[in-house]
Amino acid sequence: MEPIKRNILLNPGPSTTTDTVKYAQIVPDICPREKEFGGLMKNLRKDLVKIVHGDLEKYTSVLFCGSGTINIDVCINSLLPEGKRVLVVNNGAYSARAVEICQYYGLPHIDLQFAMDQQPNLEKIEEILIDNPDIALVHTTHNETGTGILNPVREIGALAHKYGALFTVDTTSTYAMRPINIEQDNIDFCMASAQKGLMAFTGLSFVVGNRAIIEESKGYPKRSYYCNLYLQYEFFEQTGEMHFTPPVQTIYAAIQALKEYWAEGEEKKWARHTRVFNAINDGLDELGFRQVIKPEWRSGLVSSIIYPDDLNWNFERVHDYCYERGFTIYPGKINTTNTFRLCALGAIDEADIRDFFVVFKEALASTGVQVPVVYK
Ligand SMILES: *Cc1c(COP(=O)(O)O)cnc(C)c1O
Repeated sequence: MEPIKRNILLNPGPSTTTDTVKYAQIVPDICPREKEFGGLMKNLRKDLVKIVHGDLEKYTSVLFCGSGTINIDVCINSLLPEGKRVLVVNNGAYSARAVEICQYYGLPHIDLQFAMDQQPNLEKIEEILIDNPDIALVHTTHNETGTGILNPVREIGALAHKYGALFTVDTTSTYAMRPINIEQDNIDFCMASAQKGLMAFTGLSFVVGNRAIIEESKGYPKRSYYCNLYLQYEFFEQTGEMHFTPPVQTIYAAIQALKEYWAEGEEKKWARHTRVFNAINDGLDELGFRQVIKPEWRSGLVSSIIYPDDLNWNFERVHDYCYERGFTIYPGKINTTNTFRLCALGAIDEADIRDFFVVFKEALASTGVQVPVVYK
């Protein structure tokens, strides 16, 4: 196996992968309608439930071919009964995406906005639930990847359930990294795609959730043909296959990534991401950079850094300098503040972050940015 050039991706996914995962895509051609391939997907689906400690009787996973956004689309359009309303607890770009999905499907919804650097206010959420008994689905994002704020999903889920609504959570940027217990965290549906926490490739996305609710959704309005949860679930249950062509090679890579996930273990993997995250924060602190989210609210996976007030600061130039040396840094996703992001996803460790800061400091020096950086 020839080693492949290793790039350190500090963007919020796709993440750095191992060579064994990259090479797992190189397999003999196979028709995915063969039993052999169906067997692979069956085990894969179970593994995806086990990652969030779901009871296999009660929870199932449904695979889709697409990037992570397909899951948000699927959950929201498929799980809302006729005449009911969606509540989106919105403090960032990914929950805003869920609001846009409601708008595209013309679904009745409440866009409950909170500041991007603040956790949602639970009393306010409860008030809205009391005033609007037609809310049947509450949606939020676990780690708002745009800023790196961690949302209190267990508490929001408890409120949703108290008022008879189901709870869907976009866990795309925490799944298989920050430990999740689907039942204890009061989550009915969570979701992710293979290129983030699993450290595999884009093209395979999945919803993990409550089987009984999916079955109940059989009678809900069908708002999409390709993106309907029940239809895809039922096809899997009856045939063991995806309704339409699966991303074959991507699935082989995901299966290898799962092997590596179990070999590393949930606790050790989370400890590694935490090490990486701490190394990123230490490096930033040393250079005087300020961040958007206060330390106790950070997800432990995404650092959102405010541009320094230095006329020489030029994100593009710093990016290009790092990129040419194998390190990818990423712009922010906040409308009101200029930020960039460094993320702790992927098959990387502390030493990679130390190497990164050597290059990053050179980039600052070579572009003439004053260190420690200055803020007005
Ligand atoms: C990455 C991500 C997604 C999916 O984005 P795609 O570009 O469709 O892959 C969805 N939600 C969150 C929170 C994410 O971090």
